[in-house]
Amino acid sequence: MSRTLDPSLRRQLADRIDFYKELGIYDFYRYPVGDGRIEATTALSEPSLAEGAPSLVTPSTVCTRAADAEENLFSAPKPEAGVSDPAQALKIIREDLGACTRCPLHKQGRKQIVFGVGNPKADLMFVGEAPGADEDQQGEPFVGRAGQLLNNMIRAMGLGREDVYIANVIKCRPPGNRVPERDECETCSPFLLRQIAAIRPKVIVALGAVAAKTLLALNAPMAELRGRWYDFRGTKLAVTYHPAFLLRDPRQKKEAWKDLQRVMKELGLAVPATHPG
Ligand code: URA
Repeated sequence: MSRTLDPSLRRQLADRIDFYKELGIYDFYRYPVGDGRIEATTALSEPSLAEGAPSLVTPSTVCTRAADAEENLFSAPKPEAGVSDPAQALKIIREDLGACTRCPLHKQGRKQIVFGVGNPKADLMFVGEAPGADEDQQGEPFVGRAGQLLNNMIRAMGLGREDVYIANVIKCRPPGNRVPERDECETCSPFLLRQIAAIRPKVIVALGAVAAKTLLALNAPMAELRGRWYDFRGTKLAVTYHPAFLLRDPRQKKEAWKDLQRVMKELGLAVPATHPG
């Protein structure tokens, strides 16, 4: 079989790959077609996934619009409406989620739902993408390697994990840690939005492109998403790199630290002069 791509097909593929990069998806694999050969290709910049796995998506499956889900959010009164205690409200939301079977992930190998963890009255909330294998095993977000790094980032801010709240856009592990699909996000993100509404943090930090794009309904590269404040329904939202990306490219930690310093200033936390390393 010829190894040279037809120029027009090559251009189309390049456009498609650029489109994926815009969505924050950087890992591409070629799956067997016909003759059964597999060629794995690039692993470039920020991973769009929970730690460590290949992704294969199509544009129509990508999670980018919490806004669509919001329409549903406003369509019926929520059982936690009028509950002023955030811990109680979160409990009600968790109960409402139940042993969720709303999307196909419940029958695709998830062990358990990973709801969220931390201080229900937190000023600061981190939002990641989806549970990975460790999180699925332990039922808690960010407990694997990326979680250890997130803990270090939180500590560098002068806080503990118990001071903040941590959740993901979707609450079940996608098989093989693939990118959450659009319908999974649309089904699950209303619960995240309800968690945010219950906690009412002063600042939300979106970890990585999927969280940022889902919450903001913006389609821009990370370089453009970072470095500015967004208004998420009256709450300030900042975007920084996903810890899994920082594990792959530790040189970007300096940039992430700049993002976190901005968050610290906003929260009135003392900002140390030096980079924590
Ligand atoms: N990556 C995420 O986005 N969330 C987790 O909980 C763990 C890894």
